[in-house]
Amino acid sequence: VQKSYEVDVAIVGGGPGGYVAAIRAAQGGKKVIIIEENRLGGTCLNHGCIPTKALVSSMDALEKIRRSESFGIEVGEVKFSLEKIMNRKNEVVNTLVSGIEHLMNVHEIEYLNGKAEVKDSETLTVKNKSIDATIKFQNLIIATGSKTAILPIEGADSEDILTSQDLLEMTEVPSSLTIIGGGVIGMEFAFIYNALGTKVNVVEFFPQILNNMDGDVAEVIKTSAIEKGINIYESAKASAIKSALDGTKIVEINENNESKYLISEKVAMAVGRKANLESLDLTKLGVELNERRNGIMVDSHMRTSNQNVYAIGDITNKIQLAHIASHQGIVAADNINGIENEMCYDLIPSAIFTMPEVAHVGLNEKDADSQNIDYMTGKFPLMANGKAQAMGETEGFVKLIADKETRKIIGGTIVGVHATDMLSTISNIIVSGLTIDKAAHVIYAHPTTAESIHEALLNIDGRGIHF
Ligand code: FAD
Repeated sequence: VQKSYEVDVAIVGGGPGGYVAAIRAAQGGKKVIIIEENRLGGTCLNHGCIPTKALVSSMDALEKIRRSESFGIEVGEVKFSLEKIMNRKNEVVNTLVSGIEHLMNVHEIEYLNGKAEVKDSETLTVKNKSIDATIKFQNLIIATGSKTAILPIEGADSEDILTSQDLLEMTEVPSSLTIIGGGVIGMEFAFIYNALGTKVNVVEFFPQILNNMDGDVAEVIKTSAIEKGINIYESAKASAIKSALDGTKIVEINENNESKYLISEKVAMAVGRKANLESLDLTKLGVELNERRNGIMVDSHMRTSNQNVYAIGDITNKIQLAHIASHQGIVAADNINGIENEMCYDLIPSAIFTMPEVAHVGLNEKDADSQNIDYMTGKFPLMANGKAQAMGETEGFVKLIADKETRKIIGGTIVGVHATDMLSTISNIIVSGLTIDKAAHVIYAHPTTAESIHEALLNIDGRGIHF
């Protein structure tokens, strides 16, 4: 069927950037169309944040059952079915994707499933089996996301090198797996496959895994990984991936100037994500790239070099996180709705679902050092927290950073159980501009892991009670 639409706002890409922008634009009374070639929810829901966390939850359950005796519970032999674990993950994803379809309906947002192409600077076309659509728009929001980056080394482009998407869809547990890249995605999968029984190697180019984090934070994760049997190679550069005759993979690495060969059944690439710059003809839209030519250039209103075209999410290559994409979507849609809104990147929370979890917001010690800020830190180990002891989850700590002069909290990191869910408390302390003294007035419920935040606050002045 031939169809033509005239809309106030057309959005290409139905990920956490695009669908959130669609809802906000519709809330402002705009006529909105959203075009998605795969499934609503984008990378985050279908191949990213949500399916990984569904797998992490299965692994948490598995690991807890394995140490059930420490809780005084005896179970027989512990077995699992990868198929059932994957099915559960798919159910979680499907529930959330249909939730988004429902939200599109509720807000009367037109949804077209197909690949959008640019006809000219005011018109898109979408063709699929049943529709041949032309869309004239007043404003366009580009939210086309990113894809796995591939290292430019021998063998990396071979079809059997796994991406994060492949790791989410495995039908058999590999006996061994070398993951190139010890960043967030690489480390999350390292713990997932380790729990499934795979012998995992992680190769990290930088001197430490989770390189953006402070050394003491990465150390907790490294220690936990090594205790679980994960091999970590840091300051290690992968230089080639070769296949043996039986299909076994050999990754050549150079670790601190020493050549090594890592042999494993499978190899996965987790060295970052690249903006999907080729999926729309940006030249026809008059949209320019940033200086490094690795993302669309945008101003703080999320506007591109073409005033009617906005870009949000991973395609801008600012910070590739789902909550950034969504927030940028709100900013873009607000501006289209005539409400001035600017994007600010000062307080970006990050959550890492390793075992244990890591969560961070504001400045860490590395940032404060590089910005020459005179700061004080307060640290509290979960070992000294009652709830963490009761849960048998005592790895990790809370660390807070305060400006020495103003005594305001400027950053915080939590490593340990419930870290990611506790983080917003620290965000709220920072955004409210609270000093150590003001923040320490809040009473935390007992027994909770969040009491560690209170103790870390007190410890900045050496006044902690339990440590
Ligand atoms: P995407 O979610 O990538 O969506 C873009 C959409 O655009 C895609 O669905 C694509 O099909 C569509 N599209 C592209 N071109 C066209 C076209 N021409 N026509 C129609 N449709 C098109 N972030 C977090 O914050 N927390 C996490 O825990 C987390 N875990 C992750 C785990 C993994 C394994 C991965 C890969 C990523 C993870 N991320 C996480 C990052 C997060 O998924 C992304 O930052 C987020 O999805 C970016 O949102 P987006 O809307 O910019 O793009």
